Amino acid sequence: MHEITIVRDIFKVLEEEYPNNYRDIIKVEIHAGLLSNVQPILIQNAFEAFIEDEPQYADTELEVKLLPIIAHCANCARDFEVHLHRFVCPCGKPSDKIVQGEELQISQVIFANKT
Ligand SMILES: [Zn+2]
Repeated sequence: MHEITIVRDIFKVLEEEYPNNYRDIIKVEIHAGLLSNVQPILIQNAFEAFIEDEPQYADTELEVKLLPIIAHCANCARDFEVHLHRFVCPCGKPSDKIVQGEELQISQVIFANKT
């Protein structure tokens, strides 16, 4: 996993999405599913290195939130949280239909309040 690439991609997306005010971004929140193999501490380290190349983001905060793995059970039509990669519903049926846990996405962008 190349965390620096992930960080660069995140900010590339932000610069494309907010071409006029990406410099005003003060905080970015990322949602990373546990199956995405993203480790918040490694993302933070990569972000520190990224800032050295891109000092305009020195005042920006990057927060990574890990999301649990959720699978759907066709037997009882419920979603259940997967612990320790054990894809078995509380009803006893196995399921590998993942509904959450693989994503890596920007969940929130906060801009400086310019008045
Ligand atoms: Zn079930």
